[in-house]
Amino acid sequence: MTSSGAEPSIFSRIVAREIPATIVAENDQIIAFEDINPQAPVHIVVTTKTGEYRDVVELAAGDPLLLAELVRVAHEIAAERTGGEFRLVFNTGAAAGQTVFHVHAHVLGGGLGEGTLG
Ligand code: ADP
Repeated sequence: MTSSGAEPSIFSRIVAREIPATIVAENDQIIAFEDINPQAPVHIVVTTKTGEYRDVVELAAGDPLLLAELVRVAHEIAAERTGGEFRLVFNTGAAAGQTVFHVHAHVLGGGLGEGTLG
């Protein structure tokens, strides 16, 4: 199941440069930008340029190589900004806190302590 037919997500609008974002990494498949409401000293959203997959479960089933590329870019960002140790969070489903149904990971790092983060 995909989100085809839905309105473009806010992340698709960032990809299209229709709304601003502080982009920190980009290639032909992936884009990453600073979260507008950071939950940690380093908080980057890493997402696919395609809005075809609503969450990580759909992406893993539909295009595992694209998921691997998303993880690679997340690690590259973390290597630059957090020394390579980081949390990689995929909120999956509304009850789990997902609000944007365009697959994305949160890269969280820097002074995280031992608490949990959504
Ligand atoms: P949650 O809002 O509970 O974190 P998600 O896992 O769906 O749910 O994450 C969406 C993330 O996108 C949020 O962390 C939110 O702050 C971020 N966000 C929403 N709009 C923008 C934007 N225009 N630019 C950057 N980040 C954004």
